[in-house]
Amino acid sequence: MAPMDRKMVLVRWAELIEKHADELALLETLDVGKPISDTLNVDVPATVRTIRWSGEAIDKVYDEIPPTPADTLALIQRLPLGVVAAIVPWNFPLSTTAWKLAPSLATGNSVILKPASSTPLSALFIARLAAEAGLPDGALQVLPGPGGSLGKYLATHMDIDGLTFTGSTPVGKKLMEYSGQSNLKRTFLELGGKSPNIVFADADLEKAAAMAAVAVFYNGGQTCTAGTRLIVEESIQDRFLEMISRNAQGWMPGDPLDPATAMGPMIDAGQFSTVSEYVDIGRGEGAELIFGGGRALADSGGHYHEPTIFAGVDNAMRIAQEEIFGPVMSVIPFRTADEAVRIANDSIYGLAGAVWSNDINTAHKVAEAVRVGTMGINNYFGGDITVPFGGFKQSGNGRDKSIHAFHDYTELKTTWIEFA
Ligand code: NAP
Repeated sequence: MAPMDRKMVLVRWAELIEKHADELALLETLDVGKPISDTLNVDVPATVRTIRWSGEAIDKVYDEIPPTPADTLALIQRLPLGVVAAIVPWNFPLSTTAWKLAPSLATGNSVILKPASSTPLSALFIARLAAEAGLPDGALQVLPGPGGSLGKYLATHMDIDGLTFTGSTPVGKKLMEYSGQSNLKRTFLELGGKSPNIVFADADLEKAAAMAAVAVFYNGGQTCTAGTRLIVEESIQDRFLEMISRNAQGWMPGDPLDPATAMGPMIDAGQFSTVSEYVDIGRGEGAELIFGGGRALADSGGHYHEPTIFAGVDNAMRIAQEEIFGPVMSVIPFRTADEAVRIANDSIYGLAGAVWSNDINTAHKVAEAVRVGTMGINNYFGGDITVPFGGFKQSGNGRDKSIHAFHDYTELKTTWIEFA
């Protein structure tokens, strides 16, 4: 299809998703356990905006003609890869699905999407709406099934040209191997994180403390960009610990269908056990548990975990190095800006981070020195469909969102012409 026709389908699709926002938000809350206020106000609108934006962008992207020697003309075109497999996780099923489908379909690929086994519902729902919007049969297929077998089958398939993945770093590494063992399919990965959130003494501490809680407790900490390492200037540490503990009170979990709930349960029993194990590991390593640490709402039978804060953490501890994927914050003190940067960069991950300071020089220097894909200055979770998202180091190699995402789903082709 011509770019303008692809645009029309994607824009219609976004409109249909918007029309079904309430049902989709409910489905996502039932599937994931995330609060209905988030699915309704964040996940569904982000999905609509991603699909609409990519559709609207695609017929405004031009190819190139370079300044070649006389009597020659070269055309540099971006062509679709062909068939793309997209494999996504359970923590933001709808929005990560949109981050993959919107640019891959906009650039003219056909796509097979494998949702996470625990959260296939919203992807199946929006695929039906895509057909209604006029997406040709076969251009999008949703294929739920187990990662270890179906995911591997897709990743090693010789007729699949591109692989886009969001999930854990260990599975991402396997996918690179599968690509090498099969047809070297283009493989783009968005992986885990252990993001640093650095607070200097001269920052707006009220705002920094409120956002430090959002950064780690939002979505129960089941967020790749969660600011799980709170790196605080030593001179304000005690005061700041009090402030974040006060903020943590507002994140006690509740029924995800209640619009007042800020944090729901962990996705399942397995994830709950992982979080509990890490709380034990933190205690065993000598970190000081200053808030939470246990099960909440036990009578409900749900997998609710308290927001949890460890102080006195050394960055070498496992709770500071490993992705817990739960509502657990590790507080690490620093004395100088150089030390804060060194601690922040002492991680296999490089997905996101933030620095809080009212000194523009400190804030900029630190933001530049921390090796992550997205860095906030006096904010956390900043982002928009207009800006790329992805990781450095073992947090991945792809870029979702913005025009830059089109790169992951296209090959550059040169056609060289010589005049007689
Ligand atoms: P996961 O275990 O890596 O699973 C992600 C997807 O991969 C699922 O669909 C899974 O299928 C599939 N899979 C598992 N093993 C596979 C294999 N051998 N071959 C092919 N596919 C396989 O991750 P998760 O636990 O669902 O999600 C949490 C992780 O995602 C965290 O590490 C988080 O940081 C990361 N994440 C990153 C971003 C980002 O943009 N950087 C965003 C969100 C989440 P099954 O469901 O059937 O196992």
